[in-house]
Amino acid sequence: MIVIKTKNELALMREAGRIVAVLLAELKEQIKPGVTTAQLDRTAEKVLKQHNAASPFYNYPNHNKSHRPFPGQICTSVNDELVHGIPSKRVLKEGDIIKIDCGAVYKGMIGDSAWTFAVGKIREDARTLLEVTEGALYASIAEAKVGNRVGDMSFALQHYVEERDFNVVREYTSHGVGRYLHEDPSVPNFGEAGKGVKLKAGMTIAIEPMVLAGSYKTKELGDQWTVVAKDGKLTAHFEHTIAITEGEAEILTKL
Ligand code: MG
Ligand code: MG
Repeated sequence: MIVIKTKNELALMREAGRIVAVLLAELKEQIKPGVTTAQLDRTAEKVLKQHNAASPFYNYPNHNKSHRPFPGQICTSVNDELVHGIPSKRVLKEGDIIKIDCGAVYKGMIGDSAWTFAVGKIREDARTLLEVTEGALYASIAEAKVGNRVGDMSFALQHYVEERDFNVVREYTSHGVGRYLHEDPSVPNFGEAGKGVKLKAGMTIAIEPMVLAGSYKTKELGDQWTVVAKDGKLTAHFEHTIAITEGEAEILTKL
């Protein structure tokens, strides 16, 4: 079921989105060679608390009910790790790329955003991967308008990425967001233009291209959460929460 948000709910999501954007900006400043992903997680906990917000990821149930819930405030995924990386004692090195997925629950409403950051100086191919993935995010957002369909957003994203010789993930999708972290509609990273649910004003969607430098195949690590590229190549992830309006989509998770 797709929930159309009220004015009041949208106002709260705008605030939740702003908190996420502030948090990502703080983490960006902190990301340097020598920093651990657990240190980033502690910053996230502190910043969320300062804004009377909480992480929607902490204690999130695993898709496999017998596995542990997510133990971090944020997801920290390095290099070939694509999503759901668990903050740990891992030390960031010069040349790494790190994906930070951040969320905030504010007065019951959620903002969700992810960004891939360079640790120090990175290789040219890594830089290109980041640029293409961020470009795919905005290509998809450009199609997020009343009258278009979910498939238009998926198609734009996939086309942008594959034209530049990278691949999109198959098993994980963009999604509606609001009172719950994952709501309808589900918006795959691939698809056909003109297909799927029609977009209406008041829908809120977390658009998240997940792009792989090699094959699109992924696997889950033994920690029951971290998703990596099966071939060990680099991956990138960018995400904004947006609201569909009568005009251009409003990006809720930017400063
Ligand atoms: Mg996210
Ligand atoms: Mg998301």
